[in-house]
Amino acid sequence: MESSVDGVLVEQTELGYGVLAIRSFQVDDVVGEVQGEWIDDPDYSSDYCIDMGGDLSLEPRAPYRFLNHSCEPNCEFISWAKADGEKESVWLCATRQVQAGEPLTIDYCWPAETAIRCLCGSPRCRGWIVDPDELDQLPLAT
Ligand SMILES: [Zn+2]
Repeated sequence: MESSVDGVLVEQTELGYGVLAIRSFQVDDVVGEVQGEWIDDPDYSSDYCIDMGGDLSLEPRAPYRFLNHSCEPNCEFISWAKADGEKESVWLCATRQVQAGEPLTIDYCWPAETAIRCLCGSPRCRGWIVDPDELDQLPLAT
């Protein structure tokens, strides 16, 4: 599967699908708008959904569905409300300079109860894909 939109490409990587930059981005550059399905359900969860606060989640479509986690990510989601009565829109933005060919990553910040081992390989890896504020709530490794 290949998906090219904005300045990114979805590619098979060692960790499954990933999103690669195909051009460079500067700090605070908008990479692209995250399109997807909005779900209004407090109990909804999935591996990819973005918690939008309250009961709302956004289940992103490709390419941003395939962003991998890093403990030192180079991107983050930002959102802002559109004009009155319209849904928020969500954008992927670079948090540091990104070179063409680099994988784009975000910090999943999962709650401790759904944390899994992290393989991001960053020097500051927390060892788990988990919200940094919940590191001390991790169940003992099995
Ligand atoms: Zn990590």
